[in-house]
Amino acid sequence: MDDCLFCKIIKGEIPSTKVYEDDFVYAFLDIAPQAPFHAVIVPKAHIASAAEIDENNSVYVSKIYEAVAKIAKKENLEKGFRVVTNCGEDGGQTVGHLHFHLLARRYLQWPPG
Ligand code: AMP
Ligand code: ZN
Repeated sequence: MDDCLFCKIIKGEIPSTKVYEDDFVYAFLDIAPQAPFHAVIVPKAHIASAAEIDENNSVYVSKIYEAVAKIAKKENLEKGFRVVTNCGEDGGQTVGHLHFHLLARRYLQWPPG
């Protein structure tokens, strides 16, 4: 999608610090980290949010979770981590391209605020 921030990051039109990439997934460091390690993991297809996942595009979700496990191993996140996707206005979503936050390297409170 032409005016989508994360589509532009995937295409390299906006710079990012790459953490992981394969045919389905791109992951990069969050520009405003909420934990000492904070990556954003996005599908290489424009899916607006978790509310738009269906049988035609859900392969991206499994590929994203495969990427999570690979990144966790590569980054030595053996103490644990959290994966979060914010959806819609009440969910706090600010970028309209499905993405998963991977947060680690500090204790993460539960429940979240
Ligand atoms: P959300 O608020 O769940 O939609 O998450 C969007 C995330 O994208 C936020 O954590 C932002 O800090 C992050 N973000 C926005 N612009 C950039 C950028 N240019 N590079 C890296 N992360 C970004
Ligand atoms: Zn997009």
